[in-house]
Amino acid sequence: MRRIQFYGQQIKFPSACAYCLKAVHKEYNFEQVFTYGRRSIILQLPVPLCHYHFQQASAQSPAQLWSERLGAAGGGMFGLTVFLALLNYWSETRQGFYVSNLFLAFFIGSSMAVIIWAIAKFWVAPLFAFRETRAVLRSVQMKKFDPTHQILEIVFQNETTAELTVRENLAALITANENMRQYFISAHLVDEDIRWSGRIDTNILLDHSPSLQEAEQLLGPVIERFMIQQNGTGTFYEINDIKIMAIT
Ligand SMILES: [Zn+2]
Repeated sequence: MRRIQFYGQQIKFPSACAYCLKAVHKEYNFEQVFTYGRRSIILQLPVPLCHYHFQQASAQSPAQLWSERLGAAGGGMFGLTVFLALLNYWSETRQGFYVSNLFLAFFIGSSMAVIIWAIAKFWVAPLFAFRETRAVLRSVQMKKFDPTHQILEIVFQNETTAELTVRENLAALITANENMRQYFISAHLVDEDIRWSGRIDTNILLDHSPSLQEAEQLLGPVIERFMIQQNGTGTFYEINDIKIMAIT
């Protein structure tokens, strides 16, 4: 598990399933509601998933579907009741004007309907989701959002996904150390088992120029993703001709 803070909401993800690092099938919109007093914001984060985990994320259990439907119906009915009760109360006590009362009652009624619907959809229904669905949706979790400073905190379950996402968003990263420079590291990789040879590379923020040994370790997450996507996990590979370049 890794917790990372980013500036803004436009997070770029590496081209790999956020859950298992396999090839990307589609992006799934991860959603989270944040409430600040009376105001609430729904944040959406399009997260790349492989075919299998996309299916898992989109699967809806019958109990989940029903709690969403009940939430929508219950919210609608409650909102309508509030709307009619307010109109009735104001006309009996002869308060305000009919048209403005109509708008105000509609606004209050529909706000309440939305709140009930949102509670059902975002808090209750997920409790009834399939276990696999919950596991996939937990892999990338928006934990905190500061709308004033546009700071989004995300918790990743997969360390490699976390590290690769960091490297995709170097400009939007919030770091404690200000003496960071961006380095471009590349190397030649040969794997006879899967008959592949070519260059791999990565961009990273560091507070010092990495040694060749460090550079090889820093290529680790990139190699891990590569091997998973090429079906080469566990095969023997060699790395040579490591190049390190300071960019900033
Ligand atoms: Zn996957």
